[in-house]
Amino acid sequence: FDGQDSNAHDEKIFVSIRLRPLNDTELSKNDVSEWECIDNTTLLFKNTLHERTLQLTAYTFDRVFGYDSPTRQVYDESAKKIALSVLNGMNSTIFAYGQTSSGKTYTMSGITECTVADVYEYINMHPEREFILKFSAMEIYNEAVRDLLVLEGGPLRLLDDPERTVVDKLTEVMVTDCNHLRELLSICEAQRQNGETTLNEVSSRSHQILRLTVESQARGYHGAGSSSLLTASVSFVDLAGSERASQTLSAGTRLKEGCHINRSLLTLGTVIRKLSKGRNAHIPYRDSKLTRILQNSLGGNARTAIICTMSPAHTHLEQSRNTLLFASCAK
Ligand code: ADP
Ligand code: MG
Repeated sequence: FDGQDSNAHDEKIFVSIRLRPLNDTELSKNDVSEWECIDNTTLLFKNTLHERTLQLTAYTFDRVFGYDSPTRQVYDESAKKIALSVLNGMNSTIFAYGQTSSGKTYTMSGITECTVADVYEYINMHPEREFILKFSAMEIYNEAVRDLLVLEGGPLRLLDDPERTVVDKLTEVMVTDCNHLRELLSICEAQRQNGETTLNEVSSRSHQILRLTVESQARGYHGAGSSSLLTASVSFVDLAGSERASQTLSAGTRLKEGCHINRSLLTLGTVIRKLSKGRNAHIPYRDSKLTRILQNSLGGNARTAIICTMSPAHTHLEQSRNTLLFASCAK
């Protein structure tokens, strides 16, 4: 991918905020919008109901998107460059973080579709290279990993290789073309919705990881060694609702067993905070399934974008502040 315009964000996690519009329920209760994007990087708390407790009113991030920003724009300006680095042999992860119903799935599925379209456009424009695409999809629910491409599959084990953690027996499908990949995406969506009717609120408690691996090599290259071979993967992660971790974010970082706190979500918060602070810290990837699986796609040479989704409603102020706290720690 040669459309990279700047190196400014190469070293750190790109953090953006996306506000969704007030929904019908919120509007019917005369709820009000508390947030406004005053420019591309600044989010303003309007304090409509004149709360006294809040000191800080303006928050700055790498990018903020208002109610009227379409997903295509969110993709172009927050995730595209990072997702498409998969074509340059660099691993990356795109996360959606936020409370339930804030727009994570809406945003992440749109971003995934945009990436797929751009990857295939790139492939079509580069007939001099051969590409092999592989796709896998999993869900982590209560620290159990499930294959989203297998109906009724049992939990999968994680195996430790010296180099990385592998999900044992996870289906990896060779993608034949763009439509095949779109089909695979809709299978995952159906699988997840399927789960939702049997298990209460699964999507608010589970993490979904979709992973696209791209291998490419100059066509007709038969030389020894692998100098022209590029391999990397991009992971699209639709996280559990952030309300699952908010207790701990506000009360320090001690992991409390027994309550409904989501271990993977908490550990991710710690890992992201440490990664954003610098390279030398011990990063506790091993403390959760999510961070073990993503270890090679976070930190090191990998690139990361986090899109924090928020409801603008006054009713959700507390959760929105927790989301901003997470986002601030990540940048
Ligand atoms: P989450 O995955 O965070 O629980 P969803 O993505 O399912 O939330 O979004 C909740 C609802 O809000 C869905 O009906 C979705 O279509 C709608 N929605 C979310 N974000 C937007 C947006 N930016 N613009 C319009 N509708 C949105
Ligand atoms: Mg969702």
